[in-house]
Amino acid sequence: MKYQLVLDYHLGEGALGPYLEGLSEGAALARQCRRCDRVTFPPERSCTCQSLDNLPASFGWKTLAGTATVIHRTDGLGGGFALVRFDGADNMAVCRISNPQEEGNHATLIATGEYRPAITIEILGEAVETID
Ligand SMILES: [Zn+2]
Repeated sequence: MKYQLVLDYHLGEGALGPYLEGLSEGAALARQCRRCDRVTFPPERSCTCQSLDNLPASFGWKTLAGTATVIHRTDGLGGGFALVRFDGADNMAVCRISNPQEEGNHATLIATGEYRPAITIEILGEAVETID
C-alpha cells in the first residue's frame, strides 16, 4: 500500500533564527561567545568556557567567509556527507555535499533555500596553500 502524507507546519526558530536564515541564503552566521570569543558554526547552545549564564546576551553573531576544509567524507546511495571545519570556526560541522562527484578537501557553503535549512557545501577541489 502506498499513500502520500503531506505535512504543513511551522517550527519556531527561536534563538537560531539568524543562523537558519543565513543557511537558506548561503551565509555562514556563527555564534560567538562574548566571554572567551569561541566561534561555533553550527552554533552551540553553551560555551566550553562554562559561561555561567546561557542568556542570548552572552553570545553574538559573526559572519564567516563560508569556506571550509573537509576533515572526513562518506559517499553512499543517499548522497555525500562530510565532517568539515569552517574557516574561523572552533568546532566542526556535518554537512551534505551538493556535488559528491567532485573530489577535494576545499569547500564552500551554498544556499539551500527557505524550506531546507541545512548545512550544505559544494566541493571546490583541493585547497591551495598560499605564502604571504
Ligand atoms: Zn565562551
